[in-house]
Amino acid sequence: MGKPTGFKEYDRELPENRDPKERIKDHKELSLPFSKEKLNHQAARCMDCGVPFCHNGCPLGNNIPEFNDAAYRGNWEEATKILLSTNNFPEFTGRICPAPCEASCVFGINKPPVTIELIEKSIAEEAFEKGLIKANLPKYRTGYKVAVIGSGPSGLAAAAQLNSAGHMVNVYERADRIGGLLRYGIPDFKLEKEVVERRVELMREEGIVFKTNANVGENVKVSDIMDQYDAVVLCGGSTIPRDIPIEGRDLEGVHFAMDFLTQENKRVAGDTIPKDEVISAKDKHVVVIGGGDTGSDCVGTSNRHGAKSITQIELLPKPPSERGEKDPWPLWPATLRTSSSHKEGCERKWALNTKAFKGENGKVTSLQLVEVEWKTLENGRQTFEEVPNSMVEIPCDLALLAVGFLHPQKKGMLEELGVELDARGNVKAHGYRTSVDKVFAAGDMRRGQSLVVWAISEGREAARTIDEYLMGSSVLASKNRSLLQA
Ligand SMILES: Cc1cc2nc3c(=O)[nH]c(=O)nc-3n(C[C@H](O)[C@H](O)[C@H](O)COP(=O)(O)OP(=O)(O)OC[C@H]3O[C@@H](n4cnc5c(N)ncnc54)[C@H](O)[C@@H]3O)c2cc1C
Repeated sequence: MGKPTGFKEYDRELPENRDPKERIKDHKELSLPFSKEKLNHQAARCMDCGVPFCHNGCPLGNNIPEFNDAAYRGNWEEATKILLSTNNFPEFTGRICPAPCEASCVFGINKPPVTIELIEKSIAEEAFEKGLIKANLPKYRTGYKVAVIGSGPSGLAAAAQLNSAGHMVNVYERADRIGGLLRYGIPDFKLEKEVVERRVELMREEGIVFKTNANVGENVKVSDIMDQYDAVVLCGGSTIPRDIPIEGRDLEGVHFAMDFLTQENKRVAGDTIPKDEVISAKDKHVVVIGGGDTGSDCVGTSNRHGAKSITQIELLPKPPSERGEKDPWPLWPATLRTSSSHKEGCERKWALNTKAFKGENGKVTSLQLVEVEWKTLENGRQTFEEVPNSMVEIPCDLALLAVGFLHPQKKGMLEELGVELDARGNVKAHGYRTSVDKVFAAGDMRRGQSLVVWAISEGREAARTIDEYLMGSSVLASKNRSLLQA
């Protein structure tokens, strides 16, 4: 622990964000610079809490008190080493992780928790600036070849780990750019794409081959992949969105959130969108259906387009602002979250069911909603009933459906491989092994829609399983065995 009295001396402080009125004019990241002195105070808040829970809260098992201490002492080399021993991409998680580690920080029992995510980002950026994060070529090559299908965070983590163990790794990505949802999903104002490209470039230097516009099961034959590689890891994500099949769904102006967000990523990257495909929120009454992260990203993007009004609606009731009996510390709290996008302007409504899209001349013009009342059944399950005579109709000329993802795409690669699926339609993989020999799975394709930090964790664990499968034992770290501890 850096400073024994730090937790008593300093309050939690985060960098300020740029003024919402200014920042919605661009797609740059939001936070303003934070001084080294202030960061030092934040790192000093980490207590010597005996049994830290933060690294249990982290799906990667990050050694948080240790890197907080090194950051406090300004020993960036040591901090970087500790951070990279469990996390391949702290520059991503340091920006966009919801930080379950902070939710389980011991200090957080009765005081605001340590700013772990900020410290992680600061270490990562310091490390890039000082050249501490650089291409690390494997010391030897095993002669084994592994195909990674999908270049999201799980595929990138699996590729980085497998390559470091000496295997030749080729990553197949059906999109035209690498990164999965980091590239085409998460808006630039949350994660600037230079950050993704910087990492991909390093991985190229390390010897990983990336093949874009390579859709396995479409323009790349599944049989060729199976013939050419000693192991294959499926990291294709959970890409089939949940629909709302109600009256008016086929009206012009009703879109899946991902169509809107992906197009925006492409536009910001400088691509030209054909005129008849443009989805614009400019001067529109936008209704975002779904109260989660994806919905919030639609709010931020709509504000940048210059929407006339933005309403975000959610079927569930408004969450409480404090932890309840069901989610005591150190569990992840189901409390109300207000994102930077919400602060840029939007109306949020809860406990509303979407009944029908109404339109004129084939275009959506309004949305009918009814209030719902939630109650808990005897078996503990939550259910809702519509409130009689509560129907309202709100103006809507752009509706964005952000109500989650069902499962990965089955048609094509998964059907051809014949891998078993679980009850939810995700790839069934015990210990990352699928039902097909030498085929493994990780990330959202295996666990369902989740988080970047979980995708990285799954990619790492799958890589270790593959290394064991190929070599008999593994030189790679896993969540329970970081290389520093080994
Ligand atoms: C809009 C949005 C915002 C989000 N924001 C956050 C956030 O702020 N923080 C957070 O932690 N999580 C966030 N998430 C969740 C997070 O992005 C995902 O959990 C994570 O990206 C999953 O990683 P993955 O590698 O499993 O899959 P993905 O990132 O989905 O990548 C899968 C890749 O596989 C490719 N692919 C699929 N099939 C094939 C094939 N047959 N051949 C070749 N390539 C293929 C796809 O094109 C895609 O690029 C967000 C999700 C969305 C949708």
